[in-house]
Amino acid sequence: MEKIKMKTPLVEMDGDEMTRILWKMIKDELILPFVDLKTEYYDLGLPNRDATADQVTMDAALANKKYGVSVKCATITPNAQRVEEYKLHEMWKSPNGTIRAVLDGTVFRAPIMIDSIQPVVKNWKKPITIARHAYGDVYKCTEFRIPGAGKAELVFTGADGSQQRATVFDFEGAGVLQGQYNKDDSIRSFARSCFNYALDVKQDLWFGAKDTISKKYDHTFKDIFQETYDAEYKEKFEAAGITYFYSLIDDIVARVIRSEGGFVWACKNYDGDVMSDMVSTAFGSLAMMTSVLVSPDGKYEYEAAHGTVTRHYYKYLKGEKTSTNPMATIFAWSGAFKKRGELDNLPELVHFGEALEAASLQTLNEGIMTKDLCGLAEGITPTAVDSEGFIKAIRERLEAKLA
Ligand code: NAD
Repeated sequence: MEKIKMKTPLVEMDGDEMTRILWKMIKDELILPFVDLKTEYYDLGLPNRDATADQVTMDAALANKKYGVSVKCATITPNAQRVEEYKLHEMWKSPNGTIRAVLDGTVFRAPIMIDSIQPVVKNWKKPITIARHAYGDVYKCTEFRIPGAGKAELVFTGADGSQQRATVFDFEGAGVLQGQYNKDDSIRSFARSCFNYALDVKQDLWFGAKDTISKKYDHTFKDIFQETYDAEYKEKFEAAGITYFYSLIDDIVARVIRSEGGFVWACKNYDGDVMSDMVSTAFGSLAMMTSVLVSPDGKYEYEAAHGTVTRHYYKYLKGEKTSTNPMATIFAWSGAFKKRGELDNLPELVHFGEALEAASLQTLNEGIMTKDLCGLAEGITPTAVDSEGFIKAIRERLEAKLA
């Protein structure tokens, strides 16, 4: 069989621990036998980030900006314990944070659904994709613990020296105080990323905020979404047969629970943080959540939503076989191939991405599963396999599909 040709390289970002082991297995078994793989490789494993003073992360992010499509393995975000474990020169920043800042992107998380794992919410039939605005609000707030009586004020001094001032509260005793901000530019980029993504996947876009209570802050989010929609996306949405829908966040939450899924849910930063954990848990497993970072100018970074699965890695280092679920990492690769194929007008590459996904889903639907899923499956008697066995089972089915 002749291997599938590529035009533009994918930006490949390798990572850490158990997902780095899976990364190589996936390439060796599911990609290299079928695709004449072109990548520009960046080793974002923690040892190499340390050796390059984290320059490699910046280089990878810039390559993503240049080529447009990347695929990333999970990476360690160092904390004090990791600094000790890896003898790091510094507590390097989260690679995902660095890449997100360069691409000014929004993260979209969607579950991979299979017949034998039913969502906890019984009417959810299709995936719900959560888009989280990963900038500002409470994550960049300034806050005080107020020790006792006194007056709290909000003051803005313009570049020209003019001032806006308001009393926040006259404290009669101890309390707490917080200041938050966001920027029109960031909100507009977020809106554009959401509208573009909804058009890409041909799904409705929902957005909720608390504009009735927060008449300036949240109302500005609502207004910028509406202005951007009216000026840039209304016609495209109508042509694609999809809708943009805004409502109060509490109404949206109620509608999400009653819905059958199949839409994109744009969330402000905190809502996205909280709701993505609720939605992913209700769909089944973190190991089945995909994640893609989309920039407002159409650059894509595909990855799994989960981390490096440290506990399994320590077992692996002791020579034990692990049953780590590679689905989300496989779907990061298939997503990147489909997008690269679409941009380069290579239908065979798109088809390969689809076949890889279909072979993976078929394997699960036939009851061959990693251990994390066996306990969740209903209506079938699953066979638990280790990661290697699972990937080999996918390969057999992929070969049959591509033959
Ligand atoms: P984790 O996602 O690695 O694990 C969380 C839990 O889910 C664990 O119990 C794990 O066993 C289980 N799990 C996750 N993925 C699984 C899979 N594919 N198969 C089977 N079980 C799976 O998150 P963590 O333990 O909080 O973090 C571990 C490391 O990963 C940390 O160093 C963290 O910085 C990093 N991390 C990276 C990313 C990323 O690169 N996008 C995201 C989250 C965490």
